[in-house]
Amino acid sequence: MARILVKNGRVWDGEMFFFADVLTNDKLIEKIAPDITESADYIFDAKGKIVSAGLVDIHVHLKGLAADTFGVGAEISSFPFGVTAVNDAGSTHGDRALLDYFSVKNTVFVCASIKENHANFDAAEIGLAKYGDKAIGIKVYFDKSENVRDITPIKEVCAYARNKNLKVMVHCTLSPTPMVEIVNALSKGDILTHVFHGGDNSCLENDFEALKVAKHKGVILDSGLAGNVHTDFLNFKKSVEAGFLPDVISTDITCLSAFKRGGRYGMTMCMSIAKQVGMSEEEIFKSVTSSAAAALNKDAKWGYLKVGRTADLSVFDYTLEPFDLTDKAGNQVKNDLGYKCILTVLDGQIIYKI
Ligand SMILES: [Zn+2]
Repeated sequence: MARILVKNGRVWDGEMFFFADVLTNDKLIEKIAPDITESADYIFDAKGKIVSAGLVDIHVHLKGLAADTFGVGAEISSFPFGVTAVNDAGSTHGDRALLDYFSVKNTVFVCASIKENHANFDAAEIGLAKYGDKAIGIKVYFDKSENVRDITPIKEVCAYARNKNLKVMVHCTLSPTPMVEIVNALSKGDILTHVFHGGDNSCLENDFEALKVAKHKGVILDSGLAGNVHTDFLNFKKSVEAGFLPDVISTDITCLSAFKRGGRYGMTMCMSIAKQVGMSEEEIFKSVTSSAAAALNKDAKWGYLKVGRTADLSVFDYTLEPFDLTDKAGNQVKNDLGYKCILTVLDGQIIYKI
């Protein structure tokens, strides 16, 4: 029964920042208070650092669930970046036993495909049977390359999901319709990912109308950054400046983005990019903890650092570690003073430390 004491940190508990020490006991958070003096098996000095609830990444593609040429190792893409829970966004391979085998906490969205402008649920049915209650949503690639012509398949996916009490996540780059048509079809709690993409029918093309509608309805706007592929950094910046923040920052990490895009790609780089385009520290940490957990209906378990909750936490230092991402539009983001994970604790156990 290990006790970990994290001293002198600036704590993010999922709702606010404040200075305190954090003490774990076995798998739970036992105490959060100034100047904790109880003994512990391990004491970590977090002076000048951020002590956060474990991060939640709602858009990843894991080895074993995605194609071998696409998925990335579950733990290696999570723990070094402070992520303790993930959602695989479009699972086709693997099964419930594999999900239970992963150390990182997880949920999955299964895939609906589109054929001749209609949704097809054959793969989704198989996925729902394989993953059981770990499957909490349907992911659909609403993309011209899938021979899509109008909003019909999105409406069909939404009707199917409502009938089964599942969420919907729409990949909206290369959409054949204006973004506002997509959010009009979605319901509260559904997720629009790659929201700041700079391709056809991006949010800027119709003056943020889609983002206004989405915010009003409670549709969740997910950055789905995907390194430099599915995000136009200027679009992201203009949206933030106009007050349209993403509800969630996610990586869309794959074996491609993890190792080939500008350095050590992961959640901390995405948070650093969000800082560069003007999001505040509170907005950034909310979008990767409590808001991300809520997007998966997991906020009762994930996303908060509170007494009595499971001891999933991460410590972040500031870093000038260089990265240099250029998006498809040619916009560059460099690191001024970004984030670097230095300690990750899962269920009261240290699982990453530098
Ligand atoms: Zn993705």
